[in-house]
Amino acid sequence: MSREEIDTVAGAAAALEAGALSSRELVTERLAAIDRDPALNAFITVTAERALAAADAADRRRRDGEATALTGVPIALKDIFCTRDVRTTAGSRILQDWIAPYDATVTERLDAAGAVSLGKTNMDEFAMGSSGENSHFGATLNPWDRTRVPGGSSSGSAAAIAAGLVPGAIGTDTGGSIRQPAAFCGLTGLKPTYGRVSRWGMIAFASSLDQAGPLGHSAEDVALLLDAIAGFDPRDSTSVDRPAERYADACGMAVTPFTVGIPEHLFEALSPALAGVIDEARAVLEGLGVRCVPMRLDHASSGVAAYYVIAPAEASTNLSRFDGVRFGHRCEAPTSIDDLYARTRAEGFGAEVKRRILTGTYALSVGYYEAYYRRAQRVRRLIRDEFLAAFGSVDAILTPTTPTPAFPLGDKTDDPVAMYLQDVFTIPANLAGIPGLSMPAGRVEGLPVGVQLLGTHFAERTLIALAAAFQRETDHHLQRPAGAGS
Ligand code: GLN
Repeated sequence: MSREEIDTVAGAAAALEAGALSSRELVTERLAAIDRDPALNAFITVTAERALAAADAADRRRRDGEATALTGVPIALKDIFCTRDVRTTAGSRILQDWIAPYDATVTERLDAAGAVSLGKTNMDEFAMGSSGENSHFGATLNPWDRTRVPGGSSSGSAAAIAAGLVPGAIGTDTGGSIRQPAAFCGLTGLKPTYGRVSRWGMIAFASSLDQAGPLGHSAEDVALLLDAIAGFDPRDSTSVDRPAERYADACGMAVTPFTVGIPEHLFEALSPALAGVIDEARAVLEGLGVRCVPMRLDHASSGVAAYYVIAPAEASTNLSRFDGVRFGHRCEAPTSIDDLYARTRAEGFGAEVKRRILTGTYALSVGYYEAYYRRAQRVRRLIRDEFLAAFGSVDAILTPTTPTPAFPLGDKTDDPVAMYLQDVFTIPANLAGIPGLSMPAGRVEGLPVGVQLLGTHFAERTLIALAAAFQRETDHHLQRPAGAGS
């Protein structure tokens, strides 16, 4: 059995189902691959013993005829999902030794499906970042070019898949953190509709924007993972009480009735190479019988500005719980309660997290609330309304996922605004709560780049159908970096 046949979720599932290998064999081999490549820094914690026990349980379950599609398939979880008895760090020093007392719903559902988690993947601290460089545990490298970033904040999840360490993984996306690393690492990534996947047990960054979702090589892989994690959860008050659809089924859906809008005015400033990738993607879709039409989105470009008021405001509130009393790190020998708070937080948080807490607190303070927070919320509503109006006449919207391919490590660490602009195409979907999918669509400077499909609320099946059809016609998602999986 070749590596290529089992480096996808669907491929690994088929091999297990056919009895070509056991989950224990597959998991043992992938754990060894992780051990051989510590420099990639894709994992914060590898849970080898638990994984082998889960693999054995999966093999028994399969023998007993009780397997689901994911039973025995190795996966990895971004280190933002609480995992009982395993440390959950959110990439932060403040939680570096924190052991969650319970499982996140996402963790629980993947366990119930029999997926075998190999560990917790590296990430920008509290999911704040676009490069993976803001982790207390060090930067993750891009398997396509180890001098470049893998994207962020779900950096480790993306790098682990691209390097062949695991066939699929779960990330979170507040402003692009699934789609942007998927694009930089040549993967497919899906941010579901807000409320489709439970946030219970997922450490909060910006609660009105955060959403968990899958990364994998193909649309089929992300659909298989989404099937396991989507659905109502009474423990999350923003979870939507609406039956989850069958996502993997959507891969075979006809795409001829679909119309895709292309807001070209938004990407006029892109490099000719990236513009060429969009043109090719459009030609592929047209070849499939999809109708492509020009459209305008006049408010989307204000998304970054609104996001960098709203997300820090919510973060400043969410992160107030890390005070040295309730969770994680506590400073040595505090002399007063103020000293305890101040030193614990000064020591525990990294620079970007502090920047967000300060700007967020400022934006929410009396006298500035109206000027910043309230205004940003108005812009958010305009963006949402504009999308919903657009989806009256198109089924999906096609854009680039990122304005550039993966950039060199260190390139933007001194320029937060340049870093923030990475998410110009991805942030509007989070503000509107709509789903977005990034899929590999070509190369620029030898590096993979992605295109993004956006849909209306709960239109995940449409996005998956379009991506699966696109992937039947193209081989971008089949490309692997040199040395992957070895
Ligand atoms: N890069 C964006 C930020 O830094 C988005 C991060 C995310 O989606 N978690 O906030």
